[in-house]
Amino acid sequence: MSKAREPVAIFSSVPTMEGAGVRLKRAFGHAHAPELDPFLLLDDIHSENPEDYIAGFPWHPHRGIETVTYVLHGDVQHGDSIGNRGAIGDGDVQWMTAGSGIVHQEMPRPTRGDMRGLQLWINLPASRKMMDPRYRDIRSDMIPVIESEEGVTVKIIAGHYGGKSGPMKDLVQNPNYLDVDLGPGRRFVHTFEPGHTVFAYTLRGRGTFSPGNREVVHEENVVLYGPGGAAEITAGDLGLRFLLISGQPIGEPVAWRGPIVMNTEEELTEAFREYRDGTFIKVGKHP
Ligand code: FE
Repeated sequence: MSKAREPVAIFSSVPTMEGAGVRLKRAFGHAHAPELDPFLLLDDIHSENPEDYIAGFPWHPHRGIETVTYVLHGDVQHGDSIGNRGAIGDGDVQWMTAGSGIVHQEMPRPTRGDMRGLQLWINLPASRKMMDPRYRDIRSDMIPVIESEEGVTVKIIAGHYGGKSGPMKDLVQNPNYLDVDLGPGRRFVHTFEPGHTVFAYTLRGRGTFSPGNREVVHEENVVLYGPGGAAEITAGDLGLRFLLISGQPIGEPVAWRGPIVMNTEEELTEAFREYRDGTFIKVGKHP
């Protein structure tokens, strides 16, 4: 049996401006990405003021990555170059594989109360960077919700928990993506593949992330785990809700500019040249 996983870094999300002027919090990005391979970025939009988010993310390209958008509360209109149009709302997920190229827009609409949405970027290995783009909508009612004991509720967005599997099949980096809600004092243990990168992102409340580490982690923090098997998390007196995400590292060079992530500078230059020339889209058509 492999040893328990211990946190090796704990850091808070940082206020950042993105898109056409969206105020969000960046849980991690460029600076931390090398430690989080295959994950590149995690953004958290969390505001009760529509002024912070309605400017949205108008038409822009992606290549070489997947973006996973999880709307906890709100209404995000989207459209893309492979013909998808629609809205994602409370509890819905969109799993977009940009592959060889997608042009899309993501526009949050004003929401009563707090709008909350998270976007995770997962890198693709060189062999899959130019795969055909695909888009998958996961409605909240497709996501298994498991109450394994009183005060322990787990939503499986991808991967496995408690003998059940999430709705996403055929994923490139075998990610596990759980949304875990613990009542006060509740404990959660989950075993991961040895060698996979594992991190948690706290959404609400506070708690500790290993029996041997008493640092109390508050909301909007990343807890990056070191190698091992199981992670053990205990909620504090207010309960704790967090995302628990893992995946297989890629271990390849990363060349990253804005929304495009490739392996070499030449591939980046080519992608931006194609975007200017109108030859970026390989499947579908430019909106
Ligand atoms: Fe985007």
